Amino acid sequence: MESGTAARSTETNGAPAPAADSIEVHNPATGGLIKSIPVDSPEAVAATVARVRGNQPEWEAMGIEGRYHWLGKLRDWLLDNQKRVLDTMQEETGKVYADASNEPAYLADLINFYGTKAAKFIGEQSIRPHSPLLAAKKLQVQYRPYPVVGIISPWNFPLILALGDAIPALQAGAAVVIKPSEFTPLGLIEVVEAWKQEIGGPDVLDCVQGIGDTGGALVDAVDFIQFTGSDRTGRKVMARAAETLTPVSLELGGKDPMIVLDDADVDRAANAAAWGGMMNSGQICISVERIYVEEPVYDEFVAKLTAEVGRLRQGADDARNPKDIGSMTSPNQAAIVEDHVNDALASGARATTGGKRADGPGDYFEPTVLVDVDHSMKVMRDETFGPVVGVMKVRDSEEALRLANDTRYGLSGSVFGEKVRAEQVARRIECGAVNVNDVLVNYLASDVPMGGWKESGIGFRHGEPGIKKYCRSESLVITRFAGKREPTWYPYSKARRRFLPVISRFFGARDWRRKLGLRR
Ligand code: NAD
Repeated sequence: MESGTAARSTETNGAPAPAADSIEVHNPATGGLIKSIPVDSPEAVAATVARVRGNQPEWEAMGIEGRYHWLGKLRDWLLDNQKRVLDTMQEETGKVYADASNEPAYLADLINFYGTKAAKFIGEQSIRPHSPLLAAKKLQVQYRPYPVVGIISPWNFPLILALGDAIPALQAGAAVVIKPSEFTPLGLIEVVEAWKQEIGGPDVLDCVQGIGDTGGALVDAVDFIQFTGSDRTGRKVMARAAETLTPVSLELGGKDPMIVLDDADVDRAANAAAWGGMMNSGQICISVERIYVEEPVYDEFVAKLTAEVGRLRQGADDARNPKDIGSMTSPNQAAIVEDHVNDALASGARATTGGKRADGPGDYFEPTVLVDVDHSMKVMRDETFGPVVGVMKVRDSEEALRLANDTRYGLSGSVFGEKVRAEQVARRIECGAVNVNDVLVNYLASDVPMGGWKESGIGFRHGEPGIKKYCRSESLVITRFAGKREPTWYPYSKARRRFLPVISRFFGARDWRRKLGLRR
């Protein structure tokens, strides 16, 4: 590694990032170096933000349809160039192809969703005054974008969690600058270059590269920050943003519970737990991490889950030799997963399958099912973010709910069971979204908000809040007809002194005696 180069450093989850002038991006499935990219200095970040800021008014003036026209070109480019983008992203993340292919598909759908719903969500509103005293006023609310939105994104879904937040911001009329994860910047760079060179899109979308210094400089320069990452970094971003009173939306970690009731379809529940816990090597904020199973179906569930997880093929995935599970993406992550699993095993847990790092040049952890776990163990308490689930037997749904809610996180969860009963249980999980008889699928339902309770975040993406958060409301109170002066203005005559008490009694009281001043 060259001096002054931050190569797959462990700094992101730990100590402050070192000042470096370039980043080495590696393929975690093989360990090989892909390429080095230059880091943007704080001055370069400020210059990029200033440049797109200069172009933002024209972008905003295009209106919702004009902006959808351009975002539609991005959608078409993503669909036409899926293989190219997926190859880049697969190489930098170590994902299997099937997992990577979710990204362009999601983004194309999101562009259409916000393109067609933006007028409803952020179009100008006319509002009837609630009070007769305002009858002469016309009330309008318009939604104006924050001029520049900064997006800081993690490595687990390099496009979804960067462009996925940029799309509603751009559709709202903001310019956007993204700082992707230092581990996975290449797919995003490719798309942003295509926006500029191949699509010829307006100069309102760019990205900057680096770690903490670059991220901090972005926070300083923009008008709104959308951050996705660990709660540890989220706290730093929020503190930094407080210095300039810049609003933030934070999408942070999770420790999602799954509850399996005794009337569940156990095959479906086990298959869902395997996919929801292992997809993307468990590196999903809404992965199934903890499972609580009612006693009568516990043994059957564990046997089926173990068989399903035990069948998964792990390794570097290619068309001739397809795999189900790829590598860990961040170099820190395998160590965190190993620590959680070893902590559990040392305290009496048992792995029914997996349980250790896998051999090979890349960075792999075996798909693992742990039983005999409890809430004293890290694997049931802290975010593992790896291909590991812990399964606990519970007496009934009350015990399951108590344990599911016994966490500092509150991102999402799932319940399997007869649908009426499962829905009743789902409503009592303390988190931002719950799937009933399914897992992870809420992320694709862009119609409804997705965000964290407790330490899983502040704010929401998707649905109406997912675009409105990028706007400031401006209320217009327009006088439709008027005389030379209003009764509340000067002069403060005797009549003026009596005016408000009488009027407020007349319109405020809800009984006639009081309205007419007959009751003291
Ligand atoms: P991270 O917090 O280490 O890094 C996230 C981003 O912050 C990276 O781009 C990083 O370079 C940047 N960063 C680091 N220090 C910074 C600083 N001081 N100022 C500004 N930016 C800084 O997170 P990660 O390891 O990349 O991602 C994994 C985490 O993300 C997990 O906790 C996961 O649950 C969470 N996540 C949450 C969601 C969600 O929607 N809630 C989605 C995906 C991932």
